[in-house]
Order: sequence, then C-alpha cells, then structure tokens
Amino acid sequence: MEQRRFLVFGAHPDDCDLLFGASAIQLCKAGHVVKFVSACNGDCGHQSMKSVPLAVRRYAETQASAKVAGLMEYEVMGYGDCTLEPTLEVRARVTRIIREFCPDVVLTHRTCTYHADHRAIGQAVDDAAYLCTVPLYCPETPVPENMRPIFAYLFDGFVTPNPFAADAAMIVDPVEAQKIRLLSCHESQMFEWLPWDRGDRDFDVSRLSEAERDDYIRENYMARDIRMADEARDVLVEMYGEAGKSAKRAETYMIVERRNMVARQKFQELFKV
Ligand SMILES: [Zn+2]
Repeated sequence: MEQRRFLVFGAHPDDCDLLFGASAIQLCKAGHVVKFVSACNGDCGHQSMKSVPLAVRRYAETQASAKVAGLMEYEVMGYGDCTLEPTLEVRARVTRIIREFCPDVVLTHRTCTYHADHRAIGQAVDDAAYLCTVPLYCPETPVPENMRPIFAYLFDGFVTPNPFAADAAMIVDPVEAQKIRLLSCHESQMFEWLPWDRGDRDFDVSRLSEAERDDYIRENYMARDIRMADEARDVLVEMYGEAGKSAKRAETYMIVERRNMVARQKFQELFKV
C-alpha cells in the first residue's frame, strides 16, 4: 500500500480535531501519516485562566490528542489567539511546513468564516499553495521532488460568497467513540471555555459521570458531523455505496479548485482506507 500524507492547518488547538479527528484516526490506523498544525497557541479563550498557563495547558492537550489519534505530530506554531494575520512571515512558515512534510493533501479553513484567526491561516495556506513549489521562494527549504499536493478546505457552514460543497468525505460512525476520546483531550475547551462561551455559565464538568461527559461531547461538538453527512449524502453514496447511505456522521472536505473532476476522483481515492 502506498502511504499517503495529510497535513491539516487549523487556527486553534482543537479545530483540526473537530473537523478532521475521525478522518485522522482512520487514516493513521490504516498506516497513513497525518500531521496537525495549530497556528495559534490558544491563549485567549478561557473565562478564568491567565494567558501563559492557558497556552501551556492547551499545548499539553494537543499532545494528548496526537497520541490518541496516532498523529505523526501536532505542531503549534505559537501565534497569540486573536492576533494572527496572513503576513509574509506566516506565509513563509506555512510554506516551509508544507515542504518539510511533503503532503499529498493539505487542508485548512476557508477565508469566509467567522473568526479572524481562521480566515488568516486559511489565507496564508491559500497563498502558500502555489508558492510552495516555486524553487526560489524560501530556497533554504528546498521543494521536495514530485511534491504536488491537493489543497482542500475543512467544513464550515458559511454561505457567503458560496456555501461549502463537499468533494470527499469520511464516515465518522466506526470511530465515534475514539473521536469522543480525542475531543475529550481538549478539556479546557470542551468542558470549560466553550460551555461558558455559549452562555452556559453554570456548567460544571465535575458533576458529570464519564458516560455523561461522552454524551456531552457527542451532543455538543459532534452535531456538526451529522450536518456534514446530511449535506454530503451524494458524495458519501458515491464513495461508500450502502454504507454512505446510512452513515449518520461524517467529516467532509472541499477541493480548492472544484472544476477539475480528475482531481476530484483522485482526491476521493486518497481517503479510502
Ligand atoms: Zn478555532
């Protein structure tokens, strides 16, 4: 089997897990190589912790998640939350990460989403997509021979200027429990910051049993996976037949250039395990 390499750029230390966690678990289990990158260090999103210890804790959470998924690496680029911009420096760092990893697929956020950090890393990866194969750009990290990654986007629900339209998908159902375990690694987010941010100021995870914690993750952070499956039913059936018809949850991805149908078929093949 040819080993495939997947590089995923998220803005924060949970984005890759939420949008590509079940995919990573299954790809790694099948012997492929997956690397997650978080552009920011997660140092803003908390209601009671201070920034420095928060970033340290968030880093530890990424490393725990890397172990659960079987990632090659979970890199944190380390920019402060809410400060990321698609600067020349970020573009060059992204380019070097791509060249050093030599991926078959690079995924990131689209630039039409709600959060400035998501838009910024999406823009930096978009900018690097062509430049990563230009030899005289960042020549200190040479372009690997035959590196021709397909660039694609992680799911979002935004409709302006155009809604997300899936080109490929992976079914979450067979690894639902493992994805819950993966997301549970990010406890400062899933059980502290995100409940508070949603307005649930009295939420106290210590009152929940282990099974209730799992249910909380499934209901609150994996509802999006049901939407992804429903909105990409045609792609799921195209790729998985009967299993695609009945899949409850999925993770879906959209190729940056959708008119290239050859690339779309090749893209789908890369996710079959
Ligand atoms: Zn984020």
